[in-house]
Amino acid sequence: MNKKVAILGLGTMGSGMAANLLKAGFSLTVYNRTAAKAQALVSEGAMLAATPTAAAKGAGFVIGMLADDTASREIWTGKNGALEGAESGAILIESSTVSPAWIAELAQLAARHGTEFLDAPVTGSRTQAATGKLTFLVGGNERAFSAATPVLKAMSSEIVHLGPVGSGAKMKLINNFLCGVQVASLAEGLAWIERSGLDRAKALTILKSGAPGSPLLGAISERMVNHNYAVNFLLKLMTKDLKYAHAEAALCNVDLKTAETARELFENAVAKGFGDEDMASVIEPLRAK
Ligand code: NAP
Repeated sequence: MNKKVAILGLGTMGSGMAANLLKAGFSLTVYNRTAAKAQALVSEGAMLAATPTAAAKGAGFVIGMLADDTASREIWTGKNGALEGAESGAILIESSTVSPAWIAELAQLAARHGTEFLDAPVTGSRTQAATGKLTFLVGGNERAFSAATPVLKAMSSEIVHLGPVGSGAKMKLINNFLCGVQVASLAEGLAWIERSGLDRAKALTILKSGAPGSPLLGAISERMVNHNYAVNFLLKLMTKDLKYAHAEAALCNVDLKTAETARELFENAVAKGFGDEDMASVIEPLRAK
């Protein structure tokens, strides 16, 4: 196996994923629009490429971990894009949360270049990326999936092959639709608790240990209570996920009304300056009202 891996995008998630690839012994080349973010990885042995094309050259696997459709399109297909450098037979893996429509287009472009393609978005956040405990939701053919498994294993505790190209992207949007709606409803519920005269700690214990309790509710309510908005998941990225989810479900004639309402709350928070904070800060405009 060609153990050379390139990773494009060193944000919250990509930097943790890259560190685990290095730890697992892969020869790693990294690219990031803001090159300074690569410094720690370079000091641990990664090579820094000046362009996505240069990063992809010679790599057996090229992984994208970028903000959205626009960033992904730019990095794979823009000037000096990764597709240009990808070797025939290489396996291209898009792990960003992007729209299934863009995944379909990118998969076609990859095939025209004689490369294999997988969509492999992840669940888990900053901690899981840093500790190699992500879950990969994978779409693509069996051959590419098997070949990529050792690479994905270095970054994850679970890998689920869901079906053909696009299956991972669809599953990820369904997952984040449910997460976004829950975080928005928690923001409203907690703002309500805080004004209701109830004891907040007791009220949250009841919610966390009762039927609405979930790992997400536990983690996010704690951040909301402590006003701790150090970024695990950027608020603006949840806005994007809810928008993509709404469009995708509409193709199946399902109208995600709750996604639209949740998105309104997130967009309002972006307008109030919380876009680059953790998504838990979606409660702040409600508190200020
Ligand atoms: P992030 O910290 O915002 O990093 C985004 C990456 O995209 C950075 O490398 C950024 O480059 C690059 N980028 C953004 N716009 C670009 C553009 N126009 N051209 C080129 N590069 C661009 O995001 P993240 O939290 O790592 O998330 C990455 C992806 O994983 C997203 O699709 C997100 O929805 C998904 N995801 C995130 C989490 C989470 O908990 N954080 C969990 C699961 C999935 P710069 O460094 O130069 O800005």
